[in-house]
Amino acid sequence: MNALLRAVDVHKSFGPTRALDGASLSISAGEVVAVMGPSGSGKSTLLHCMAGIIPADAGRIEYGGGDIVTMPDSMRSALRRTEFGFVFQFGQLVPELTCLENIALPLRMIGTRRKAAEARATEWLGRFDIGDIAKKRPGEVSGGQGQRVAVARALVTGPKVVFADEPTGALDSLNGEQVMRHFTRAAKESGTAVVLVTHEARVAAYSDREVVVRDGKTTVPELAT
Ligand code: ADP
Repeated sequence: MNALLRAVDVHKSFGPTRALDGASLSISAGEVVAVMGPSGSGKSTLLHCMAGIIPADAGRIEYGGGDIVTMPDSMRSALRRTEFGFVFQFGQLVPELTCLENIALPLRMIGTRRKAAEARATEWLGRFDIGDIAKKRPGEVSGGQGQRVAVARALVTGPKVVFADEPTGALDSLNGEQVMRHFTRAAKESGTAVVLVTHEARVAAYSDREVVVRDGKTTVPELAT
């Protein structure tokens, strides 16, 4: 299958700490890849480099015929706004906005009119079974509901890739599984690729494929058979 996004031999150090030491990962459209490995192994750094949030020191990150490592900052931020979506452990929702407005926000930021943006956000609330919290603020909803809002917000613009860093890390297992079920189903339906950082096997079980990061290097776990 053709890779949509491909990291090749990526290196990244923070001072003396070698966070990535030759990590490679490719992902195709519609694929959910779980990035696993012990704490401190470089998983988040790999995700941040692939998303163009932090610059890699060496290696290539190929996307759409370009290289995210060497492209100008302005192009990297445009990619993040228009082609990528993000979900973090704590939803990072805007506390002053309602859940509906939070989901509509990325659309507003790319110029969609309020009515159209809110209509799309309403669809997502329904799809994720949280229509009843549309008018509530993030502080008034449960952790699981808040993460469903965060996932909907990441998907609402129809991104090509969603980067999720421990998206269920703050949830109990039941809520975590609900979020993952909605997340992966919606991503599959829209052909969105998902790079999912997690240390939980239960969460990784929702992926198509697992990649393990150890000491800044990626390895593919041995097949069970
Ligand atoms: P993981 O996500 O697997 O827990 P990280 O990618 O967060 O691992 O971190 C890999 C290594 O890089 C760790 O030793 C961590 O302390 C270090 N590191 C990550 N980000 C920074 C940073 N901004 N400044 C300094 N060191 C960092």
